[in-house]
Amino acid sequence: MKRNMSVDEAYEYWCSKPPISSLFPVRFENGREGTEYKGCCLKCDGIIPDDDLRGEMSRPTAHVAVVEGIGLCRDCKMLTPFFGRIRDDFSMDYIDQQGRWQRAFPEPERQKSLLVNMLKKVDRLLRGGR
Ligand SMILES: [Zn+2]
Repeated sequence: MKRNMSVDEAYEYWCSKPPISSLFPVRFENGREGTEYKGCCLKCDGIIPDDDLRGEMSRPTAHVAVVEGIGLCRDCKMLTPFFGRIRDDFSMDYIDQQGRWQRAFPEPERQKSLLVNMLKKVDRLLRGGR
């Protein structure tokens, strides 16, 4: 996908691409699966519906899937571009609003680590510690 597209080019791109959700799940060599990619509107921060987040996916290595595309927020009538990398360890990189790469972990992994922390606390309590 071209960077610095005009609004017309961006809209044309959006019309010509399938929903990103149709490109999932993506399977990695280690057996893991990436199941979804979500994007937020740059203006209102609302989640863009799957059907309106369109683009393409490439696989530069067996461990990474690169997602790029454009999301349409119908409330704001605004197009937001997306660039993301999904790794086979479930971490995800994305470009934030200032153009910097950030790393994130999707919900299920976070929930799992919260659960592990909670179990550790329970374990400590049962052992009489704090
Ligand atoms: Zn919006």
